[in-house]
Amino acid sequence: MFQSMKNMLFDADKRKYAVMAINCVNMEQAMAIISAAQEEHSPVIINISPRQMKTHGTPEIIAPMVAKMAEGVNVPVALNLDHGQEYDDVIRVIKAGFTSVMIDASACEYEENINRTRLIASIAHENGLSVEGELGHVGSAVEGDSEKLDLYTNPEQAKDFVQRTNIDCLAVAIGTAHGNYPHNMTPRLDFQRLKELKDILQMPLVLHGGSGAGEENIKRAVACGINKINVCTDLFQCGRKAMVEAAAEKLEIDYMDFQIAGQNAMKLFIKDYMRMIGSSGKYYFESSRTREFD
Ligand SMILES: [Zn+2]
Repeated sequence: MFQSMKNMLFDADKRKYAVMAINCVNMEQAMAIISAAQEEHSPVIINISPRQMKTHGTPEIIAPMVAKMAEGVNVPVALNLDHGQEYDDVIRVIKAGFTSVMIDASACEYEENINRTRLIASIAHENGLSVEGELGHVGSAVEGDSEKLDLYTNPEQAKDFVQRTNIDCLAVAIGTAHGNYPHNMTPRLDFQRLKELKDILQMPLVLHGGSGAGEENIKRAVACGINKINVCTDLFQCGRKAMVEAAAEKLEIDYMDFQIAGQNAMKLFIKDYMRMIGSSGKYYFESSRTREFD
């Protein structure tokens, strides 16, 4: 089932779990993600960032491929532009057949963020896509941005932002950051702020920078109202490690087996993660139920 994020995040909000949003640049990753979702009876979101789509998997190739795979499974799969910043990138992915966009104008002044986000939300909604915005700023882990309190999302401002932009879900800054955290550092998340955001907004909230945040933080974030968790760094590292190990074991490894080593490791990682954030088992349809009890 190929669809937007709207209904799956509405359900996640209602039933208090989170859906993985996983960065994907090729067929092996798409297969790992979608087969994991199918086996776990879980919804899933496939993310691609502007950098990734320009340097590797173009939207015109990724979108029909993901759509084809998604139509073959009976769990919801969304395809989302991650951190869209340029108007042209958003239009490009809409034309290519994405089901969702994130407009990230969080580095802009507040009113400019509202203007850009509102414009993209209206265009995306007209075309049947769901929209994610960001307020506050989830920065870079190596820059130490996770500890900069002035970047955190303000709950009162968030209420105004959501009302004026008409977005479907909001990425919040509560103490995580993108990329690898400095060695041995586990970020401290502001759960009190997250609870206030959930109380005041009553809508699906998104956590970026979840890689390296630790299982305890992730589980608590879901319990406090996070419904979409972006995962990139942890998954890419998992795939790379499996491929390096496979090549070290057998230098003349067949090219296809080399790719499959990464794919299988990523699939296991995703399945474990889906269980951790509670999305496993949320979509049991007739056909899968029958198969389950065969
Ligand atoms: Zn992000």
